[in-house]
Amino acid sequence: MQPKLYIVIPCYNEEEVLPITAGLFLEELTDLIGKGKIDGESRILFVDDGSKDATWNLIQDLTKRDRHYCGISLSRNRGHQNAVLAGLMEAKDSADITISIDCDGQDDVRAMEQMVDAYLGGAEIVYGVRSERKTDSFFKRFTAEAFYRLLNGMGAEVVFNHADYRLVSARVLREFADFKEVNLFLRGMFPLVGFKSTSVYYERKERLAGKSHYPLRKMLALAFDGITSLSIRPIRLITSLGVVVAIVSFVLVIWSIVRELTGGTVPGWASMTCIIAFLGGVQLVCMGVLGEYIGKIYMEVKGRPRFIISERTEQQESHEHS
Ligand code: UDP
Ligand code: MG
Repeated sequence: MQPKLYIVIPCYNEEEVLPITAGLFLEELTDLIGKGKIDGESRILFVDDGSKDATWNLIQDLTKRDRHYCGISLSRNRGHQNAVLAGLMEAKDSADITISIDCDGQDDVRAMEQMVDAYLGGAEIVYGVRSERKTDSFFKRFTAEAFYRLLNGMGAEVVFNHADYRLVSARVLREFADFKEVNLFLRGMFPLVGFKSTSVYYERKERLAGKSHYPLRKMLALAFDGITSLSIRPIRLITSLGVVVAIVSFVLVIWSIVRELTGGTVPGWASMTCIIAFLGGVQLVCMGVLGEYIGKIYMEVKGRPRFIISERTEQQESHEHS
């Protein structure tokens, strides 16, 4: 029997691009059904992430046009990662496999066939990896690649150039459901689940319409979030820094004693002020890093729901009650 596929698509204020891409997803899905690779009851599941424009209306219209479309709406905007999670959790009991993909057409839908093939070949997780970034600006490419290096350097293991385009089997999702953290960094969490995985390469294109929701500021926040969610290496670095500073100051002490004994005492106002100010800065940064972890603990301890589904399209309603 063929696996039932759910394509999970987060959408936030995407009224411009959704009408273009919705058709592309359906084409790919029908194509895969036609080729006998996936079950005829496969679905395209849109997750409206609290959009303020007509996105949810568009999704509802789509579901009336073709039975393969369905959707859920979150009670408010929770961000890309939470929206993907909501979709995956919604799909996990009905689907055999899920593929998460952005709704802006940047990720090539044709890579889905290879992903499904890889699943049929025994992989439980298939990462979509960007083979090149020709269309991204130099700045975007540079910052994005620095982002992956930084993550890996800080001990958060992620697949290089993989974002959130991936196939995950229902079996993996059931295990993943036990990862209860509210600080989500999906691309770093799935490797932690384990199971057999592989990668599929595709070319990343430009957004078909509308604007990116990830300016540099949000990318930096995501990088920092990713690191602190997956690793405590920054705290270790603070410890090492403390050791280095202690050694340096010890050497300085010896040096000043020797100078004193040999009668060459240096007047020290400027050097002292610099050192105090420098160490003050270092200490504040270190406290900031620690504070970041404490903040995360605070959020985790509260364990608030990661998303709240406010509406489902008709089909999904019936699923929920069955
Ligand atoms: N997205 C979302 N919630 C948000 C921001 C974005 O669900 O708060 C969705 C968005 O609709 C898109 C995907 O996440 O499908 C990726 O966003 P975007 O294309 O803006 O980011 P980029 O590709 O530029 O990194
Ligand atoms: Mg995009």
